[in-house]
Amino acid sequence: MFKKLSEHVYYRPAEHYTDRPNIGLVFGEKYALLFDAGNSAENAEKLKKELSICGLPNPDFVAVSHWHWDHSFGLCAWNCVTIAGEKTNEKLEEVSKWKWDDSSMEGRIKSGKDIVFCSEMIKREYPDRSKINVIKADISFKNRMSIDLGGITCELIHCGGPHEADSIICYIPSEKIVFLGDSNSRDFYGKPWFFDIEHEEDFFDNISKIPYDKKLVADYLSLMETLDFDTCISGHAEPMTKAELFSSFG
Ligand SMILES: [Zn+2]
Repeated sequence: MFKKLSEHVYYRPAEHYTDRPNIGLVFGEKYALLFDAGNSAENAEKLKKELSICGLPNPDFVAVSHWHWDHSFGLCAWNCVTIAGEKTNEKLEEVSKWKWDDSSMEGRIKSGKDIVFCSEMIKREYPDRSKINVIKADISFKNRMSIDLGGITCELIHCGGPHEADSIICYIPSEKIVFLGDSNSRDFYGKPWFFDIEHEEDFFDNISKIPYDKKLVADYLSLMETLDFDTCISGHAEPMTKAELFSSFG
């Protein structure tokens, strides 16, 4: 269920079993915006039900943090205006042509286009992979986009960072809250790392060995430094303070 962060900002905690990410909700007097689309139509339908149970508004806008499947594959299920960074939409165009039979998925792992972890999680989320429907967002932007929801404004900001070059964040200045997507996370696609679905208990140990790119982290933190916030919510973890974010890169 959605949890309250402020009068106008909620989030739905991540579900780790099939890698469903944290989902943010920001609403004003006129409009509501959801940050990240979920990893499937089923994930999106569950979010819609929970919004209704919690008495929260349905989104008028859904923005995706970056192209990775767990944040973007739910786009097809939202009947509202969808938004992504320009680079995210370019990559979604490419992914929309991918096939999801076993040999196509294995081929992408061999060529480095995809990774074992995502492949295993996709198989779990989609017992029937013919249901995967990857689409682009309706609106794309390059650097920054401001949306007035009625008395509360969301700033969507392209930030790049150590996780993926296309990452954007959702900054809500009046609430001093930022939804980070996975932007602060390590680069899962850059260098090979080990994942075995039979030994999921080793997941955090294994990813902690992926090195951060120091230059990307420095550029990312200099952008984050310019934003005034107390709380930030990354893609799959508990909310953090600004100080915790800054000290999390080792
Ligand atoms: Zn990601």
